[in-house]
Amino acid sequence: MNIEGDIRYSIRTSPRAKHVRLRVSPHEGLVVVVPQGYDRCQVPDIVRGRLPWIRKALEKMPSVDPDKAMLPETLFLQSIGEEWAVFCENSPGKQKFLTEKPGRIIEIYSFSDDHSASCDFLHAWVKRKAAIELLPMLDAAAERYGFTFNRGTIRFQKTRWGSCSARGTISLNMKLLFLPPELVEYIMLHELCHTVHMNHSQYFWTLVERHMPDYRGRDRAIKNAFRHVPPFLL
Ligand SMILES: [Zn+2]
Repeated sequence: MNIEGDIRYSIRTSPRAKHVRLRVSPHEGLVVVVPQGYDRCQVPDIVRGRLPWIRKALEKMPSVDPDKAMLPETLFLQSIGEEWAVFCENSPGKQKFLTEKPGRIIEIYSFSDDHSASCDFLHAWVKRKAAIELLPMLDAAAERYGFTFNRGTIRFQKTRWGSCSARGTISLNMKLLFLPPELVEYIMLHELCHTVHMNHSQYFWTLVERHMPDYRGRDRAIKNAFRHVPPFLL
């Protein structure tokens, strides 16, 4: 979350955006949508220049519970280049459920006062999607780099992107879905190298470097990568 004056906002990269767009919504407040590769340093100036418009737009917005600001309107899964729109509908019946619609749309039917149920549905969807997308990527990476591992699992982890157990089980954080492909690739290789060296010794890093000579930049980038993850999953 960024702050300009009294305005909080988030920045999102969209592969479809051609220009910088400001969007105000009841769920997310102000979102600055920028094209891929855009220099984010320019965003504070843009926000400052549009403050009168932003204030007016925010005033017109129906007020929402701060909790509800957490549910995103879009999920951008950078790892696979998919953007999904999220709609929450008030369930007419007694059922609560999540459904996928053509055109990468997620619809959650719930009750307006049951925000946490909607979050839980979306959380579970991300975890299922991570298993579908990331585990085959891990298999392919193992084959490409010439490693073997016992099995892969998807977990919800607060601070780690992945781990590798002594028995060769590689756990991947479901939040990897939101990261750029080159960082996902790095995490997968990193964990695969742990099947050979269960530590961060010089031998380990030499092995990583042999397969990925530019790993240092990626290792640095991974330290800030949680900014790609939507707040409801943090
Ligand atoms: Zn490690």
